[in-house]
Amino acid sequence: MKKWKIIVLGILSMFLLVGCSTSKKQTKDSNQKLKVVVTNSILADITKNIAHDKVDLHSIVPVGKDPHEYEPLTEDVQKTSRADLIFYNGINLETGGNAWFIKLVKNANKKDNVDYFAASDGIDVIYLEGQEGKGKEDPHAWLNLENGIIYAKNIEKQLSKKDPKNKSYYKKNLNKYVEKLGALDKEAKSKFAKIPKNKKLIVTSEGCFKYFSKAYHVPAAYIWEINTEEEGTPDQIKDLVTKLRSTKVPSLFVESSVDERPMKTVSKDTSIPIYTTIFTDSIAKKGANGDSYYSMMKWNLDKIAEGLAK
Ligand SMILES: [Zn+2]
Repeated sequence: MKKWKIIVLGILSMFLLVGCSTSKKQTKDSNQKLKVVVTNSILADITKNIAHDKVDLHSIVPVGKDPHEYEPLTEDVQKTSRADLIFYNGINLETGGNAWFIKLVKNANKKDNVDYFAASDGIDVIYLEGQEGKGKEDPHAWLNLENGIIYAKNIEKQLSKKDPKNKSYYKKNLNKYVEKLGALDKEAKSKFAKIPKNKKLIVTSEGCFKYFSKAYHVPAAYIWEINTEEEGTPDQIKDLVTKLRSTKVPSLFVESSVDERPMKTVSKDTSIPIYTTIFTDSIAKKGANGDSYYSMMKWNLDKIAEGLAK
């Protein structure tokens, strides 16, 4: 073979090799599921309702644990680094207190509104009592179902952008889910409208019911305002007990993701019973009542209405 022929063949085979390896890589990528990371069990459940098995989903804060303050595990750090898409609540939840989420995405080299998105984007923000501005938001927006619908829409929008081949699938699931949440919201509004005004007070450990109160017209009282504060000091307990003595509220409630001892003290000091455990910052364990966003909201709405009607 002449020297020039060998060179031409050599160059051709190089092109072929490069071409093959590139097309192989592309096929592999398009078959791979979108890697999605979410900060807590509520966002995980909303995402599952839209994406089902079309994505690889990792949820960071375990069921039943407090999402305000958290120390990510090695697995969380690795999965966040490899994620195609990350959802967090924002408005002072994982970004408040020790700001664990900010540290996590910074270490993973991820960018705001490129790689990670706040599911709460576009909701009507309520601030902590007497405060305003960034870092002073009440994060518990999902406790109003209308906001839950906004979360679902935000999640679908980003899923469809990052994974356009499944866009119509995500959209179809979103529409079904929004209808289901909307029906529950309507049911809740008519249910709370029937409870006498002097019994309408939802009493919990953390003051996480501001969005709920506004949506369903049930005022709220609490021991401490937000989990990033001191929880259940003698002064906080005394203040609530004094407040409750001037009301006719028949029931107290305690959340699944907090220490129940302070509320037990309030119950003992006021002789008002704790009606049941409700779900605020986490869904319930799989198989139990409240093990999805829909069923935790349904449980809360039913039990709060029952407890206050006593
Ligand atoms: Zn909370």
